[in-house]
Amino acid sequence: MILRNVFKAKGLKVVGMKVMKISDNAHQLTQWGMINAFLVEEDDGFTLIDTCMGQAEAIVEAAADLRHPIVRIVLTHAHQDHVGSLDALVKMLPAALVMVGHRELRLLRGDLTLEAIEARFPLRGSYVESHAKVSRELDEGDKVGSLRVIASSGHTPGHIALLDEREGTLFAGDAWSTLGGVIPGGAMNWKFPLPAMATWNRKVALETSRKLCGLEPERLAVGHGRTVDVATAAMKKALARA
Ligand SMILES: [Zn+2]
Repeated sequence: MILRNVFKAKGLKVVGMKVMKISDNAHQLTQWGMINAFLVEEDDGFTLIDTCMGQAEAIVEAAADLRHPIVRIVLTHAHQDHVGSLDALVKMLPAALVMVGHRELRLLRGDLTLEAIEARFPLRGSYVESHAKVSRELDEGDKVGSLRVIASSGHTPGHIALLDEREGTLFAGDAWSTLGGVIPGGAMNWKFPLPAMATWNRKVALETSRKLCGLEPERLAVGHGRTVDVATAAMKKALARA
């Protein structure tokens, strides 16, 4: 169900997002038909997962329309299309707590060096430097409201996914994509090659995709593409092809 589809011209910049309810607790916000962020409802307000690019006003407006404040912002990883509205959002929502994966924080701060234990592949994709105050660094098993943090390295070294344990929705960031088909991280999809082209370590990304499938999610919500229901069956099929 599309709740709202508002595009506004602001100078040369077009601000706008499609807002869609994807489950009992979550709404998907989509920029340009291909970049997603999510509003996850909790008792005290929304947790925003990822931020798209240049969409702070549209995101705040969408939350206001849905009559909940954004109280937390969680980043799956530090690529531009996930972090690109963060600094503006922090200015608009100074009370919101910002959270990022423990390993990913250094990338967000602009330090793109690898750690000694990490495979020597070049970092790919566009990283954005932000010095927004981070309230919490997240690791495997941490809880953010109803969301459980799942370490999901591969696309980037410190990528995290989030599983809503109330309803089984997996917010997989770029560890999976569904644009042009359900595709595990690291696998090339010529219909939409950007996630694979921006992946740091394809072997680890594929292992991570298997790990996420093993959680047997009900629903797969990703950075790029539509949300998929009956997700585990679709993920298993995609892994068998990869
Ligand atoms: Zn990415």
